[in-house]
Amino acid sequence: MPRSKAEALLAEVRACTACAKALPAGPRPVVQFSSRSRLVIIGQAPGSRVHESGVPWDDRSGVRLREWTGLDGREFYDPAKVALVPMGFCYPGAGPSGDRPPRSECAPLWHDRILASLEARRLILLVGGFAQARYLPEARRQTLTEIVRHFAEHGPLFFPLPHPSWRSGIWMQRNPWFEAEVLPALRVAVRKALSEGDRQ
Ligand code: SF4
Repeated sequence: MPRSKAEALLAEVRACTACAKALPAGPRPVVQFSSRSRLVIIGQAPGSRVHESGVPWDDRSGVRLREWTGLDGREFYDPAKVALVPMGFCYPGAGPSGDRPPRSECAPLWHDRILASLEARRLILLVGGFAQARYLPEARRQTLTEIVRHFAEHGPLFFPLPHPSWRSGIWMQRNPWFEAEVLPALRVAVRKALSEGDRQ
């Protein structure tokens, strides 16, 4: 059976070595998508644990993101429903204070082609400041807290979120509106995106 555009593109991504010289652990793109993905989650870059396992969001941040979105593991890892497309697909290595930022070559090289290959895209979650800087240029003068506070201004296509790292627990305590107002709206938007796909 001939491969779809998205399948051919996924094979191309997995063979990418464009910035190999800058990757201390070597290239290992960790992405998930299919032409039928309806929800796109754009995060930052894999950490060392995800680099080892090759499974996207296979860490505490992934557990928290699934809690936030209301997705169970079966849905989250189903490429017919969810595309997992970080700003950098390979582990960028450790820096002086945590992991290095996603490689800047990666999103310009791949994102437009991947998004164009999705037929049923309904909602894009922008998880963290790197994704928001690329997709919400009008929000560049705002802090992440302000962008998330005004999430409704970026719908229905985009939904900005903080990165669900351990730091987000402290941030949530300082910003109780996130749990009270944003997470319920997020779960509704995610369910709507997936159910619209079910009707196609
Ligand atoms: S980070 Fe992106 S551009 Fe660099 S090797 Fe991995 S897939 Fe290619």
